[in-house]
Formats: sequence, C-alpha cells, structure tokens
Amino acid sequence: MNELLAAYRYLTNNYAQLHDSKRCGCCNCMEIFRPEEIVGWLGLDTLEQMNDPVAVAKQTAMCPHCGAEAVLGDKSGFPIHPNFLMKMNEAWFQRTMIRPKTK
Ligand SMILES: [Zn+2]
Repeated sequence: MNELLAAYRYLTNNYAQLHDSKRCGCCNCMEIFRPEEIVGWLGLDTLEQMNDPVAVAKQTAMCPHCGAEAVLGDKSGFPIHPNFLMKMNEAWFQRTMIRPKTK
C-alpha cells in the first residue's frame, strides 16, 4: 500500500517527470503510451503562469485515452506495467470513476 500511496503523488504536477519519461501509463484506463501522446495538461490558468517555468513544470497530465488525471511516467521509478497500473486502479480509481470495459 505504501508503494501505491507513493506512486499516487506522481499522478499530479507531473509535467517534468513525464517530460523525462520514455513510457507512461494511465491508472484509470490502464493504457500504456508514450509521453509525446499526451496533449492535455492542466494547471496554467493565466498568461503569467504560461511564462513561468516553475508553473509549467507543475502541470498535470491528462490521459490521451480517457482524459483522467492519472498518468504515471517511468521516470517516477515505478513500473509502467499493466499489473502495477491495475493495482493503482483498484486502490484509487475503481470506486469513483469509469466502469471496466465490456469485452
Ligand atoms: Zn486513461
């Protein structure tokens, strides 16, 4: 559980971390993708913030597949692996968000 708690912190304000990552995964939909695929970032509300490197580095990624703020990069030190994403999903997201995909 401590590991999942620690990893959860990397799901927000993670622009810099994801910028240095090669792979990342979403703890909500459990897709694995490249950081370049992320197009949505949250956190810049004003023009001043857009020009502030500290504010830029603290943006939060939105998953390109489901839009959740639940993206973890390998630079965090945690495994970007379906089993780990599943554990994160069970711990943090299952009760509050999207239902499992029907096959
Ligand atoms: Zn997702």
